[in-house]
Amino acid sequence: MAQKTTLLPEVKKHYGDLKNFIGGAWVESSASEWLDDTNPATGEVIARVPLSPRADVDAAVRAGLDAWEEWRETPPLSRARYFFTLRDLMEQHFEELARIVSQDHGKIIDEARGEVRRAIENVEVAAGIPSLMMGYNLEDGAAAGIDEEVLYQPLGVFAGISPFNFPAMVQSWFWPYAVATGNCWVAKPSEQDPLVQVRLFELIEMAGFPPGVVSMVHGAKEAVEAVCDHPDIRGVSFVGSTQIAKLVYARAASHGKRVQCGGGAKNLLVVLPDAKLDTIVPNMISSVYGTAGERCLAGSVIVGIGEAQGPLKAKFTAHASKLKLGYGLDESTQMGPVISRKHQERVLGYIDKGEDEGAKPLLDGRGVKVPGYEHGYFVGPTVLDGVTPDMTVAKEEIFGPVASVFEMDDLDEAIAWINRSPYGNAASIYTSSGKAARDFRYRARAGSIGINLGIAAAMAYFPFGGMKNSFFGDLHPQGRDAIRFFTESKVVITRWV
Ligand code: NAD
Repeated sequence: MAQKTTLLPEVKKHYGDLKNFIGGAWVESSASEWLDDTNPATGEVIARVPLSPRADVDAAVRAGLDAWEEWRETPPLSRARYFFTLRDLMEQHFEELARIVSQDHGKIIDEARGEVRRAIENVEVAAGIPSLMMGYNLEDGAAAGIDEEVLYQPLGVFAGISPFNFPAMVQSWFWPYAVATGNCWVAKPSEQDPLVQVRLFELIEMAGFPPGVVSMVHGAKEAVEAVCDHPDIRGVSFVGSTQIAKLVYARAASHGKRVQCGGGAKNLLVVLPDAKLDTIVPNMISSVYGTAGERCLAGSVIVGIGEAQGPLKAKFTAHASKLKLGYGLDESTQMGPVISRKHQERVLGYIDKGEDEGAKPLLDGRGVKVPGYEHGYFVGPTVLDGVTPDMTVAKEEIFGPVASVFEMDDLDEAIAWINRSPYGNAASIYTSSGKAARDFRYRARAGSIGINLGIAAAMAYFPFGGMKNSFFGDLHPQGRDAIRFFTESKVVITRWV
């Protein structure tokens, strides 16, 4: 069957060489290297992404510095109004944004809608900045007649670097809070699927943010290193793989910046014998195979405890085998492709390795063909049985639609595995026992705990992120943590005589 051409007009119009957005204008990058951005379901090139050099990052930072004084003196209520306008624009363009995400990333349209909704929610929460940014005070706090107060103040220019898997959402974990608190912002989206950020920046432009307050520079390694090293960037927010998170954390911190870096994950879903399998298996399927497993909160290790093992394996595999692969914009598709040919090969390589090391594929996603999309980067849902802790598939993040099935005797063993893992992004328990759930919540060392749900994704007003090698830093993105990350506290002690 012939390869389908499927790009919708909103994506076609961006086809070509992407521009940076600096100082309120769309400007050519001075890049000498460019990357192809493809639709992962078809392999079609939909844009060329400049790998911007240091000079482009510097131009964005200088635009931010020029804008900063006036922006920080803009009252919080007035700053909030830009976010109300942006929020309305995002609602008006909701379906268009979701379709861009689906075509550029490959995820199914419903998941794309979910991530755009999350992005809007972060804008909504940041619009509450007059309340969120308040300090506190104490009359006679220092001594009789001497009052003491704390003010939260912005620092200057911040930058944010995001991964491919949530191209609309992850930048929104940072920048609305950075900018609402009175800082300026330089975004560096993923070079693999930056189109939705291009469209969001068009909406940011329409919302009327003053030039230089919010800029975007496309690129990869060189742009990220320029961000880490730039003397006038006060802090860096990063989300991506653990390997790069560690590098960015160390490099940016060595230049005296405040840094928050989210890293990779290996999340365990543990099922106790008292769990209601018919209810929980669909939820586990969505955790493992949603966004083709390319979620930092995705379940990737499935553990049945004791007599839950056999029935869990059978029901989970039966459900997984029914998932319909296809094009993300087709509403009946349940799983799209992975992001790139290279990533497809990496995921398939992990399945090969799992088998070589002794795991048994109960469901094998290698070699799947999706009619009409033969050039797409598809991997079918895969279930590897008999995985043991020493196997590569048990230890490393696969970031694809692959479940590794472990067998364990009790909950203590599962918690010990979680706490030994170098990662600590998320962990979930399925049970009818409040006592077991409480025990799990208390002891498991992971930043997001799910009780009878497999994706415990913090809402915008709560902090998002993990522990151990899944997060470097102290203050997380979103919520109150974000307000603290993007401000510094100043104590004022006053005596009038
Ligand atoms: P990645 O680490 O390859 O890329 C992330 C960012 O780093 C991109 O903007 C990229 O341009 C930049 N980058 C890549 N190589 C670099 C280098 N050598 N030097 C400097 N910068 C570099 O990650 P990815 O593949 O885009 O995203 C997937 C990863 O993100 C997974 O590991 C996933 O678990 C993780 N993730 C974590 C969270 C979280 O909250 N902890 C959320 C989403 C994704």
